[in-house]
Amino acid sequence: MQEKIINLQTQATEELAAIENSTQLEEFRIRFLGRKGQFSSIMKGLGKVSKEDKPRLGQIANGAKKAIEALYDDKQRALTADSGGSPARNDAIDLTLPGRRPETGKLHPVTQIMSEVCSIFEGLGFSVAEGPDVEHDHYNFEALNIPAHHPARDMHDTFYVSDSILLRTHTSPMQARIMETQQPPLRVIAPGKVYRCDSDITHTPMFHQVEGFLVDRDVSFADLKGVLTIFTQKMFDKDLELRFRPSFFPFTEPSAEVDIACVICDGKGCRVCKRTGWLEILGAGMIDPEVFKMVGYNPEVYSGFAFGLGIERIAMLKYGIDDIRLYYENDLRFLSQF
Ligand SMILES: [Zn+2]
Repeated sequence: MQEKIINLQTQATEELAAIENSTQLEEFRIRFLGRKGQFSSIMKGLGKVSKEDKPRLGQIANGAKKAIEALYDDKQRALTADSGGSPARNDAIDLTLPGRRPETGKLHPVTQIMSEVCSIFEGLGFSVAEGPDVEHDHYNFEALNIPAHHPARDMHDTFYVSDSILLRTHTSPMQARIMETQQPPLRVIAPGKVYRCDSDITHTPMFHQVEGFLVDRDVSFADLKGVLTIFTQKMFDKDLELRFRPSFFPFTEPSAEVDIACVICDGKGCRVCKRTGWLEILGAGMIDPEVFKMVGYNPEVYSGFAFGLGIERIAMLKYGIDDIRLYYENDLRFLSQF
């Protein structure tokens, strides 16, 4: 029995010394130290030896097992250190490595364009006003000459909160809100979020608009054209071609849709401009006398113009992006480019 124990210890020591990786080490553990391993069977064998021999043999067997376990632990430590996983190695500081740069936050491209639009108009003497996203039907429609059952309401795809409360479908309610409380001359822009049940490559249910209006004596359509031309030139930093198309809005008369030459395909026709070479960037017109009457201005004395433009649309044109939904998918690889 004693010989058997000593042989086993010698064999285990030799095998352990030859082990080169953790897989071999695990096999070794199962074979020698496991529950059904060779040391276990030695221990079981001790039950059959005579009473006189038992304490002595037990001591030898235990000593041998402990010695092998200690060698096993040493081997395990040595293997871990070789694979670079040793705590001592991880804690070592390599002063020659370049430092870790903290990630800096950035403004969302839509926010960037929004402030750029605002600063261009501020440079033209406009002041900035903000209003509520949840709006009264009165300011969103009625005060803008869009009474109940007016067909123009169909174009707005409105989210209603209740019969008389809704999510504003445009930033134009600020026209009525400001004219109600202030007297001309007025030069105001109102940036903000607007909501419509609409979603495709160029529309999202929530988007951003900037409403602008100017009210004074002797304001003409030429003033409107002048302001919008200066704006687009500054915004896109080049002499873009502008096109005014006759249109209809209940709160302006005459009304126009304003297009710029498609900056993605240079007017050749592409997916974004729907093969027309033109992109609509805003709607505009002279403020309807009916709107003035509703806020108590005398349309014989005052005239003015108003326009509304989509921020996402401008951001798409400025950066050559052909899918508006990219702005709201929150992919940092996309957003960090701006
Ligand atoms: Zn195009």
